[in-house]
Amino acid sequence: MSSLPFARCGFHYNTYSCYLEERFGERVQRVSLDGAFTCPNRDGSRGSGGCIYCNNLSFSPPYASVKQDISKQLEAGIRFLKGRFGAHKFIAFFQSRSNTYAPVKKLERLYRQALDHPDVVGLAVSTRPDCLENDVLELLKDIGRDYDVNLEIGIESLNEASLRWMNRCHDLACTRDALDRAAAYGIDVTGHMILGLPTETREEMLESTGKLNILPLKFLKLHHLQIIRDTALAKYYSDKPFPLFGYEEYLAFVAEFIAQLRSEFILQRVISSSPDSCLIAPKWRHSTTAFVMDLQKQMRERELYQGLCANAK
Ligand code: SF4
Repeated sequence: MSSLPFARCGFHYNTYSCYLEERFGERVQRVSLDGAFTCPNRDGSRGSGGCIYCNNLSFSPPYASVKQDISKQLEAGIRFLKGRFGAHKFIAFFQSRSNTYAPVKKLERLYRQALDHPDVVGLAVSTRPDCLENDVLELLKDIGRDYDVNLEIGIESLNEASLRWMNRCHDLACTRDALDRAAAYGIDVTGHMILGLPTETREEMLESTGKLNILPLKFLKLHHLQIIRDTALAKYYSDKPFPLFGYEEYLAFVAEFIAQLRSEFILQRVISSSPDSCLIAPKWRHSTTAFVMDLQKQMRERELYQGLCANAK
């Protein structure tokens, strides 16, 4: 436990909020922005149907409206988050679709428009592994001289069959190449992982931590698979239902998963949190906050903590 540098009191894993407070000396909130990007898995250059689970409405907050320019979205987001959390520093988070999928000049204009706000201390950019040219990495490295920069990459799974099932339209070699190049530019990277895919057993998911532990990642976001309205997965699930994680089952599973992660990772997320209006299944009664509290209890009672059983292979 003592080797977990960002484990908030009572937590058995490194939390992002604790990391941000250590880094900035106060609470920092992310403001989600929509830069009106598209995605190569939607516009036909890689695929046209999108990933099986994708519905962008499920991860865009109401203030990140593409009808407004970045400055207006940022103002609205900051106003909302100041009122709700009393935060004074913010990270501009380009979240919806593939936020590096545009000429680098356009990206620089949008990113710097957000960074111009005096309360913004950092930039977070979410994208796919096949949308990461070296000139974009150079830009992020350059911005990183003055701001906190976090590149989020959708890994989703380290299993080729799962990537095909999800219709990701890229393979593992592409993921590894993107991560290696981002590391070469010294950029802090988050890896997104989906847990509960029907193409992987629980044992295979746990085993994948060995591969995850040797990737050049600083942060992780763990998502339990959710069925979201108006997606290809909703249709698939309706035609061929398959087991999804129950609340207690996911609690027990993710506690073990975290125990197998190396102790340096910082966890930005341990559960998905799509709005109820979009969610078909699994429907849990508990909030994300309740889940996080239950996870602490579970890890404490089972004497599990991040890094306890970490391996690398
Ligand atoms: S890469 Fe992201 S935006 Fe593109 S289809 Fe997949 S989930 Fe949707």
